[in-house]
Amino acid sequence: MRVPLSRPDLSQNDRDIVMRVLSTDQLSIGPMVTEFEKAIADRASCKYAVAVNSGTSGLHLIVRSLGIGDGDEVITTPFSFIASSNSIMFERAKPVFVDIRPDTLNIDPDRIERAISGKTKAILPVHAFGQPADMEPIREIANRHHLAIIEDSCEAIGAEYHGRPAGSFGDAGVFAFYPNKQITTGEGGIIVTNNEEIAKLSRSMRNQGRGEANTWLAHERLGFNYRLDEMSAALGLSQLKQLDGFLEARARVAETYNQKLRRIDGVVIPHIAPSVKMSWFVYVIQLPAHVNRDAVAQYLDEHGVGCRPYFTPIHLQPFYSRLFGYKRGDYPITEEVSSRTLALPFFNRLLEAEIDYVVETLNNAIHTKQSKTA
Ligand SMILES: *Cc1c(COP(=O)(O)O)cnc(C)c1O
Repeated sequence: MRVPLSRPDLSQNDRDIVMRVLSTDQLSIGPMVTEFEKAIADRASCKYAVAVNSGTSGLHLIVRSLGIGDGDEVITTPFSFIASSNSIMFERAKPVFVDIRPDTLNIDPDRIERAISGKTKAILPVHAFGQPADMEPIREIANRHHLAIIEDSCEAIGAEYHGRPAGSFGDAGVFAFYPNKQITTGEGGIIVTNNEEIAKLSRSMRNQGRGEANTWLAHERLGFNYRLDEMSAALGLSQLKQLDGFLEARARVAETYNQKLRRIDGVVIPHIAPSVKMSWFVYVIQLPAHVNRDAVAQYLDEHGVGCRPYFTPIHLQPFYSRLFGYKRGDYPITEEVSSRTLALPFFNRLLEAEIDYVVETLNNAIHTKQSKTA
């Protein structure tokens, strides 16, 4: 049996709507992007949405719209996909890391204040694996120190924190639509915000710095080509309509994993805070400390089970160490968790028989790869 790590869920309607765009002359800057933006803004309870060609582009435009630049610092988590922190570096600002909570794996609000300096401009929390970070204390700290919040919701569309949608807590937030995300546009992302200025600047900068009049060769500021095309936006619209069903299916798969994995000694299943509604992005376990994770991953791979060690600590990526002097031991919880995590196959239509195969193979792997030196 082969079970992939992830698989997009595309319907006939998804294919039809893209084909309809392809039979028109308008493949970019058209009605689909506008409609997609309206639908996402609605879903995230935000006034504005600005569609872009990736989650990374969205984060970059928010950082830039906030005027964050040379010499500034932004507080963020080292336990994330590297784009969250790279978006700070694109503008020559410094990512200052704060370690995570060992249970939720999100930035630990109790450690944030110690990391604030005179140069700090913003906090950039990430909702790791679809679980919202603890936004109430983060908002309180941000207010007290007059800092902006950039919400990396790229893994958390549809998640809630105290009943409010992820993406609506920061000065601006971003969702991402790469094919392994809960809904996909192929490549794509979208900024959500209630801040008119951020929306306006992002709209301009995604489109080569053009002004609101959209005169083709009038460029008011430095901009990029971060536009989302019409085919992608159409697919996003159609996928968004299915989001609730997708999230229910993913919650069921996660619950099935939880039940079956409880029988394997020492495996830590995801911990979900009571104040949140998950939007399951990936299903990540932690292996017992004495088990050689990389050997287990290799065994799973050899037996047709897709898996991945989510995440490698960002501060230990060679260019981060080189540029900022970060070293092993700087963020011990992130480092410890990172050495033990494994993302298992996870998608809407994962069958119980496939889950059984994954769990059985994992159990065999753990029992043959006990030692860290094996
Ligand atoms: C997916 C993701 C992004 C954005 O990724 P893109 O591939 O640029 O769309 C950003 N941050 C996190 C945490 C992500 O998981």
